[in-house]
Amino acid sequence: MSVGRRQQPHVVVVGGGLAGLAAAAALAESRCRVTVLEARRRCGGRAASFEDPVGGGLVDACQHVAMGCCTNFLDLCRRADLDDALRRDRTLWFIGPDGDRSRCTPSRLLPAPLHLAPLLLGMRHFSIAEKYALGWGMLRLARHRPADRPDAVTALEWLRSIGQPEKVIRLFWQPVIESALGESIDLVGVAAARKVAVDGFLAHRDAADLIVPTEPLGRLFGERLVRWLEAAGVVVSGGVIVTEIERTADGRAVAVRCGEESIACDAVVLAVPWKAAGRLVPDVVPNVAEHLAGSPITAVHLWFDRDVIDVPHAVLVGRVSQWVFRGEAEAGSRGHCQVVISASRGLMQGDRQKLVDQVVAELREVFPAALGAELRDAKVVTDPTAVLSVRPGVDAQRPAATTGVPNLFLAGDWTATGWPSTMEGAIRSGRIAAAAAGRSVGTDVPTVVPDLPKNPLVRLITAG
Ligand SMILES: Cc1cc2nc3c(=O)[nH]c(=O)nc-3n(C[C@H](O)[C@H](O)[C@H](O)COP(=O)(O)OP(=O)(O)OC[C@H]3O[C@@H](n4cnc5c(N)ncnc54)[C@H](O)[C@@H]3O)c2cc1C
Repeated sequence: MSVGRRQQPHVVVVGGGLAGLAAAAALAESRCRVTVLEARRRCGGRAASFEDPVGGGLVDACQHVAMGCCTNFLDLCRRADLDDALRRDRTLWFIGPDGDRSRCTPSRLLPAPLHLAPLLLGMRHFSIAEKYALGWGMLRLARHRPADRPDAVTALEWLRSIGQPEKVIRLFWQPVIESALGESIDLVGVAAARKVAVDGFLAHRDAADLIVPTEPLGRLFGERLVRWLEAAGVVVSGGVIVTEIERTADGRAVAVRCGEESIACDAVVLAVPWKAAGRLVPDVVPNVAEHLAGSPITAVHLWFDRDVIDVPHAVLVGRVSQWVFRGEAEAGSRGHCQVVISASRGLMQGDRQKLVDQVVAELREVFPAALGAELRDAKVVTDPTAVLSVRPGVDAQRPAATTGVPNLFLAGDWTATGWPSTMEGAIRSGRIAAAAAGRSVGTDVPTVVPDLPKNPLVRLITAG
């Protein structure tokens, strides 16, 4: 019997990414003793930072943004006193193929979904007819019932099937869906695209707000969130690789092994990526790596001798560069900006210098200040499995938090949350797994925070 059983139930969380940290935060509100074991020195997982080679300080490996609809992300940040390091931007900048800028801001006054009218009307690169087609397409997507027609088609096939103009697909649906889901529009399922349209745009006046961290993720999650957890009594150990989940003959998890050391526990939340989960508990998630695929995201970091981006961020449509962000946060980040490219497999045939040259040329086309600026340094960071590829039918392959082992629970952005693989999805998964772990040891743990409320008109449109 574990020490934990004689005192408080002991829950071990394996993996200190956002899913594991969110699970620990939820469990810390119960009578459980909580230990987080993270393989790397610093927690935060894929929401990570590196040292700025030019100015010093931390720079995010890749810019992360959340949206107003990410209720669990926002709730965790509020509870952990991190929301002073989040900026809420209501305006989305789109820069069209000719360099024309569209400032698109949803209304604060009109009820959803009419709040989107100014955003739509602000898109200068579309004619009136194209704006109408786009608005109509968004409503059709919201009305689409995956249950009526199994999620067998891709977003691109579906958009074409309802007659969306190619220009609207290329200059709106493609950049929006690809940056929200991290996967290309010809691979993602229509159900995932519908989620972006409904939850990210139509559902609520604040849904499309962009939530931008103003501190490096490594500091925000790797330091501040961890300190908050520790103050709440959670033990967080970095640099600890879990090598085995020890189980009894009848299958219950009794301990977590890290090399020579064995840590007794009453329940385990396994919050590691799917390949690591498949290695640790192959009988619990059999063949998971065969059913799930990752999608790559590339960040091109550029350090100019001055600031060259005159807006906080902008969607560059019809270019290799998809989304540019002005450098945030650290004092040394003046002149730093980064360009994020989702679904970046095969990008410029893997030629990094060619990619940097292309991105710099594109920035010089649309930001006049970049023309005279000297490029001091560049760094290309690609994560080949940045997010789960949400292809048609993938949801049926995503495992639930509960498993065949009564006290072993899965978390991670790849598990069945109904959300794409995002910070919000990871945090939801952690909360779902924590609530289930709490039940298994006989204690209440808070579960997910509800979505933004939908008004009657939105409910009618989305029938949900
Ligand atoms: C380039 C890029 C851009 C992204 N952009 C966005 C964005 O703009 N917005 C957004 O919402 N999301 C974005 N995401 C997705 C987001 O980062 C992830 O969805 C989220 O961070 C996943 O959290 P997680 O806890 O599920 O997994 P992870 O972050 O992968 O955490 C898993 C943790 O488990 C640890 N681990 C693995 N094996 C073991 C072991 N044996 N023992 C102990 N620990 C172990 C790992 O070290 C890791 O820290 C992006 C991701 C990438 C890579």
